[in-house]
Amino acid sequence: MDKNIISDRIQNITFSATLEMTRRSRELKAQGKDVINLSIGEPDFDTPDPVKEAAKRAVDNNITHYPPVAGFKELQEAIAHKLKRDNELDFAPDQIVVSNGAKQSLSNIFWSVLNPGDEVVLAAPYWVSYSDIIKLTGAVVVPVETTVEDDFKMKPEQLRAAITPKTKAVLFNSPSNPTGMVYSSSEIGALVSVLKDYPNVLVISDEIYEHINYTGMHVSIASFPEMQGRVAVVNGVSKCYAMTGWRIGYMAAPKFLVEACVKLQGQYTSGPGTISQMAALTAIQNPPHNSDYIHKMVRAFKERRDLLVEKLNEIPGLVSYVPEGAFYVFPDVSSYFGKKFGSCEINNTTDMSLYLLNEGLVAVAPGEAFGNDRCIRISYATSTDLLEIAMERIKDALAKLHE
Ligand code: PMP
Ligand code: GLU
Repeated sequence: MDKNIISDRIQNITFSATLEMTRRSRELKAQGKDVINLSIGEPDFDTPDPVKEAAKRAVDNNITHYPPVAGFKELQEAIAHKLKRDNELDFAPDQIVVSNGAKQSLSNIFWSVLNPGDEVVLAAPYWVSYSDIIKLTGAVVVPVETTVEDDFKMKPEQLRAAITPKTKAVLFNSPSNPTGMVYSSSEIGALVSVLKDYPNVLVISDEIYEHINYTGMHVSIASFPEMQGRVAVVNGVSKCYAMTGWRIGYMAAPKFLVEACVKLQGQYTSGPGTISQMAALTAIQNPPHNSDYIHKMVRAFKERRDLLVEKLNEIPGLVSYVPEGAFYVFPDVSSYFGKKFGSCEINNTTDMSLYLLNEGLVAVAPGEAFGNDRCIRISYATSTDLLEIAMERIKDALAKLHE
């Protein structure tokens, strides 16, 4: 059959670079190669026991029928309570939609508000899937370039310059994937003072790394009085409860947007899996400031970050910095561009990632997919022992490159 039956829409997007590098590293592992995968953002911890117990109870109690499209009422209530408890946000339970991961929450929002030609402003580098989901809708990504020198943070004047009459939404992500940078309250306040001049621009705030924050302070842009009624907050259980495979994310938003997302989700996937929802309920009911589990995990991530930053600083030609949250670092490797290994020349971050995978047996994600073709993303959500070995391999592989 002619493979061109695939729609233009799908032909025009790319495979998720993070998932693609993970696929390649699994493939090499299956061939017996000892690859260390630092390309995916996924905690190496196990889901907490009480959460697993809740899932088992759900099965035993036959909570296995179609759920309501927006999620179980108890879960919506627990999320509304969490948003008040942790973020000082006032959302009613019926302003929450639970989805198949935060990825689907974002996708629901994009499809619900974007028409072809609309613009979405976001700081670059940005998480890989934003740009491709936005592209699918026919809308346009307007990246605001940030660099390691300015802490990878969008400045208010850059935001103002990027907004046009076509801007439908501004997407905000702190702690950030891929840079790990965290916006302070005053930095968010400065962006808010620009956004308040554009009351019809929707603000989408992806807060999935909320608890993986070494500054000790997460501020939601939705908590600013000027932002009331115009922010869609996206969050989920994947990262801070080590529940990536359970696929539960959620959004909290103005009622009109919730209705649109429920309409879409009801036609598209229905509500997310009942067993996962019951597991997420137990996770979300557990206040993170009282949770030994989250403290332990965040402490471990911070130690790994310190180790990684130290090791990166030992590699000549890399430009690194100290990330403040999430579990990624995004060093600039561009001083190696133009160098060779045998006949293979490294000219961009995809070349570099493939070289590190094939020669160094370490999978990282190419910055190109994140809208910055000078840096690579290294995830440190893996054990200290493996990180030490991986960094030695990266150092050795880079040292083999020649003019
Ligand atoms: N937003 C960001 C910034 C992410 O890094 C991820 C990671 N997958 C997601 C959203 C989606 O998370 P999930 O679908 O696992 O809830
Ligand atoms: N968000 C994670 C990452 O950036 C998981 C993979 C994905 O969904 O892209 O690696």
